[in-house]
Amino acid sequence: MTTKFNFNGEISDELSISVMDHGFLFGDSIYEVVSTFKNEPCFLDKHLDRLHNSAQAISLKIPRDREWFREQLQKTLIAAGNKESYIRILVTRGVGEMNIDPSSCEHPAIILIVMDVTEYSKSCYEKGIRVALVSIKRNPRDALNPNIKTGNYLNNVLAKIEADKLGAQDAVMVNPWGYLTEGTTSNLFFVCDGHIMTPSMNCGILSGITREMVIQLAKENGFHIEEGKWPGEELLKADEIFLTGTLKKVMPVSHLDGRPVGSGKPGPITLKLLRLYDDLLTKRA
Ligand code: PMP
Repeated sequence: MTTKFNFNGEISDELSISVMDHGFLFGDSIYEVVSTFKNEPCFLDKHLDRLHNSAQAISLKIPRDREWFREQLQKTLIAAGNKESYIRILVTRGVGEMNIDPSSCEHPAIILIVMDVTEYSKSCYEKGIRVALVSIKRNPRDALNPNIKTGNYLNNVLAKIEADKLGAQDAVMVNPWGYLTEGTTSNLFFVCDGHIMTPSMNCGILSGITREMVIQLAKENGFHIEEGKWPGEELLKADEIFLTGTLKKVMPVSHLDGRPVGSGKPGPITLKLLRLYDDLLTKRA
């Protein structure tokens, strides 16, 4: 169980960063979480694309190209030598003056963290997890666009705190207009009468890589899947609900606001998509 850090290309067992880094002071950073299969990064091109899109959206110039990221990641994975790894890629604005103006930050910091992966327990997939529709709203797109994967996650942290208080393991948020968006670190899907629904990008969500894969798999396997806009109450009518994310994969939801979803057990469409997604990860290797 080894953790390795890579700071601008230097690999170490421990890492400290300056408190004057604007990533620390203002959440002025971007990041990606990547999983592995046979200790090879999954969907790395897509994660690097998203990292670069996030950088562009916050006017941050990443001083290294994709090949550099691939090489450094490979070196760090080898140094850690885990069976499977959790990979976090961060790019911060860098060290600057004690004010919000990013122009004093001359050198973005690139940090790779490779650690032993802690997977969700088998019982989560067998039983499903409890979620709550919380009162905290997802940031609107014209405030802090949820499609930028920034290190500023306080919106989601507050939602998670509210979910915990409600006895739930995760939160689902609506946007300021009451339309469903996503979970704290996952995208949302629900099933009504055999049709799969997922909030569209213009509801204000992150374009999840797992979401994209699941939509593709659903279409290829003859499911009716719709991206759209639904009020929060719609979720109460769902026969099945599931969340998707790099670490969660396809996570069944058993209870919403303390009430069972459908039978209160993972539904057939959720389980089928979980199997198809697992197969996809296996086949890629
Ligand atoms: N939404 C949010 C807010 C997230 O943090 C994540 C996790 N990165 C996701 C959705 C799922 O994205 P992905 O499938 O790319 O992990």
